[in-house]
Amino acid sequence: MADGNTPHVAIIPSPGIGHLIPLVELAKRLLDNHGFTVTFIIPGDSPPSKAQRSVLNSLPSSIASVFLPPADLSDVPSTARIETRISLTVTRSNPALRELFGSLSAEKRLPAVLVVDLFGTDAFDVAAEFHVSPYIFYASNANVLTFLLHLPKLDETVSCEFRELTEPVIIPGCVPITGKDFVDPCQDRKDESYKWLLHNVKRFKEAEGILVNSFVDLEPNTIKIVQEPAPDKPPVYLIGPLVNSGSHDADVNDEYKCLNWLDNQPFGSVLYVSFGSGGTLTFEQFIELALGLAESGKRFLWVIRSPSGIASSSYFNPQSRNDPFSFLPQGFLDRTKEKGLVVGSWAPQAQILTHTSIGGFLTHCGWNSSLESIVNGVPLIAWPLYAEQKMNALLLVDVGAALRARLGEDGVVGREEVARVVKGLIEGEEGNAVRKKMKELKEGSVRVLRDDGFSTKSLNEVSLKWKAHQRKIDQEQES
Ligand code: UDP
Repeated sequence: MADGNTPHVAIIPSPGIGHLIPLVELAKRLLDNHGFTVTFIIPGDSPPSKAQRSVLNSLPSSIASVFLPPADLSDVPSTARIETRISLTVTRSNPALRELFGSLSAEKRLPAVLVVDLFGTDAFDVAAEFHVSPYIFYASNANVLTFLLHLPKLDETVSCEFRELTEPVIIPGCVPITGKDFVDPCQDRKDESYKWLLHNVKRFKEAEGILVNSFVDLEPNTIKIVQEPAPDKPPVYLIGPLVNSGSHDADVNDEYKCLNWLDNQPFGSVLYVSFGSGGTLTFEQFIELALGLAESGKRFLWVIRSPSGIASSSYFNPQSRNDPFSFLPQGFLDRTKEKGLVVGSWAPQAQILTHTSIGGFLTHCGWNSSLESIVNGVPLIAWPLYAEQKMNALLLVDVGAALRARLGEDGVVGREEVARVVKGLIEGEEGNAVRKKMKELKEGSVRVLRDDGFSTKSLNEVSLKWKAHQRKIDQEQES
């Protein structure tokens, strides 16, 4: 933790490994390029997961971690959605956060800045008590951020369920969007998760700034609009792409198996298939995907998790409880052994996506996964499942970075459609167009992070503000 002379930032990632990973990359950049010390303050409703520990343990010693005592969610029904659990965890951790800030203040090591993510705004109450400057790190893109900033207005003006809207909603700067593609918690306005989302979004205006993990080449129009000053909207800084640079929780054997297998495949030939840290498919969908991959005749590396009726069922624990291999169609592994590799639950994604044998990524469109693919120029097949993933998919298809796997009338992507879109991406004309776009985006992602690049300059600007606030806090602590 800070020694009182170096500028100090505290970061609260809300639960979920997908929230932690980009914030870890932000912390590393603040340390390496701006001389900050960083303290991660980790709330949870149970002891930290193996994945969290593995990510945090890999950090240099100037990045400290404090695990808050588990928040009590015993009164929360087991059916509560992830957004409700995440928000309640952060909110109910405020007393522990207050205590921590109290001791840091007594030791004259109070951070100048508190960075939270989408569901962490209630921690601003504690920040305000200690004159710590509140910031938001928005881990997804400017398109979804623009939508969220607009949500309170939609909430006031639309009386029905958003999914019942017959026309796409046009928000300046956003890709036109139908109600059924709104972020998951907006699909049922009576559900607590919607109330929590709205509550957090309404507090965005209390932040001194919002940092966004995106970059200008990816969504130039949206970025122009979201950065226009407006009352009740803090300054927005585009600082991405911040992407996963470690293998974290991957089992060393799986890591070796994946990379070794990839070493023996032809250049650009393999489709990587993964639904992030927690995504799961229904049993029917799992089977159709398996049969479609086999039917495509293309090479694939598929990370499987046991099927479930709830798409986010593994969100808090990526490991499957049952053996996921037992759900594969009979004879599948044998039939595809020349072309495919299947691994259970978790793979070293960052390394896989940099491998030259990878020719495409069938993804749930989690924003970290999307950016990891973009910085490596790997074209995408969009297969969104939950959270804001449908909106991410719309953006990625709109910019030409992804092909879309189309749902059948029964809500399932059939095996023929899987085979069509996989072949289309790996060898078709449409795949070539996406590959070309991805190459441009990859180059853009390098450009923005050069010394004089757009994202580098944005983070420089933020860091100067934070350092100025640190001097103020230090003076207050002295007096
Ligand atoms: N990840 C990984 N191995 C896996 C699955 C996921 O390393 O088998 C990492 C991936 O590289 C990414 C993060 O976990 O950094 C998942 O974040 P994303 O935003 O894509 O999706 P989420 O898991 O939050 O839905």
